[in-house]
Amino acid sequence: MFSREMYALGAQPSVIREIFEYGRQRKAAIGKDNVFDFSLGNPSVPAPPVVNETIKRLCDTMEPTVLHGYTSAVGDQGVRQAIADYLNRTHGTAFSAAEFYMTAGAAASLSITFKALSEPGDKLVLLAPFFPEYNVFARAAGMEPVVVKCREDDLQIDFDALDAAFDRNVKAIVVNSPNNPSGVVLSEETVTRLCAFLQEKQAQFGHPVFLISDEPYRELVYGGVRVPFLTKYYDNTIVCYSFSKSLSLPGDRIGYILVPRSADPTGELYKAVCGAGRALGYVCAPSLFQFLVPACLGKTSDISIYQRNRDLLVQAFTEDGFSVAKPDGAFYLFLRSPETDAAAFCERAKQYELLLVPSDSFGFPGYVRICYCVAPEMIERALPAFRKLAQSYGLC
Ligand code: PLP
Repeated sequence: MFSREMYALGAQPSVIREIFEYGRQRKAAIGKDNVFDFSLGNPSVPAPPVVNETIKRLCDTMEPTVLHGYTSAVGDQGVRQAIADYLNRTHGTAFSAAEFYMTAGAAASLSITFKALSEPGDKLVLLAPFFPEYNVFARAAGMEPVVVKCREDDLQIDFDALDAAFDRNVKAIVVNSPNNPSGVVLSEETVTRLCAFLQEKQAQFGHPVFLISDEPYRELVYGGVRVPFLTKYYDNTIVCYSFSKSLSLPGDRIGYILVPRSADPTGELYKAVCGAGRALGYVCAPSLFQFLVPACLGKTSDISIYQRNRDLLVQAFTEDGFSVAKPDGAFYLFLRSPETDAAAFCERAKQYELLLVPSDSFGFPGYVRICYCVAPEMIERALPAFRKLAQSYGLC
């Protein structure tokens, strides 16, 4: 026999993947220009030129057995030092290479971190709406997810709900700002309050409560909005970073975990991260892409395209009578479903060839996620379909 639990995960793909697959089939059937796929967060803007230039340079100049060989399990020392130097320059911190563990993207960063922290009976607080794979990674690590819904009006943290859900078995809480699926950036006020709350809980329970900052969208913010760098607000912060979205490299699988000394004075947590990486088979992140990182730190793909997409859609949705906020970051809009059942709304949207993701799996029913990391001309072509969808509900 084999694992029923793993079978269930494999046999039932995520809702997002299911819609994406439906889209592929539909495009094959009626032509790709006739389907408006807003389902998957696959960056549509190409990687900045420095990415390909550096890959070519590395291929031309580096010793192939080094470029394509194993690095040390935690990642190349020089690459990790370059990341530390960059963060220190940017945020006024004092990290060293020894606090970084290179990974195959944020999914690996999170899976390793959860596994490294997990002891029997531990709980992991997830703030809804959240990236649905957190549930999978948490359960695989043996942690029980505890869902706390954010405030409906602005999707900032609901501290009464958080307090009610928090008990001494909570080992960590995950924050994701800018957020998938809502695009919301946690305000500095929320961050400060959260950190004070966690300090209080640590004192009350007599053990550390970790703040895991999942930040693949850190650089994707618009209009000069600032994303607070959480290690500066709370000692027991662990950062799970990925270059998937900022550099448009999701298929190349590169990211890191930052375990700051402030969270790990003895170095034991870092060792647990190494152990979890080993146990999960995540040692030695892709070497070519590790060596690419130093030249790309602080660079992004052209995010002004996302900003224009966001503005275009928000304006059109508002004119159509939909209820939607204008978020500050990432490339997602969280639109309120005109009927209670968001899945039914998505089914109706399909009649107009619009592929949207219902919010139930994000732990926050009643909404749909719209990924706007798509070609601007697809948005232009999709607007009449959204108008018809709105008209079918009598919104305009
Ligand atoms: N965390 C969030 C919030 C995401 O949206 C994603 C991907 O969409 C991930 C983690 C996983 O990122 P990666 O592709 O780097 O594994």
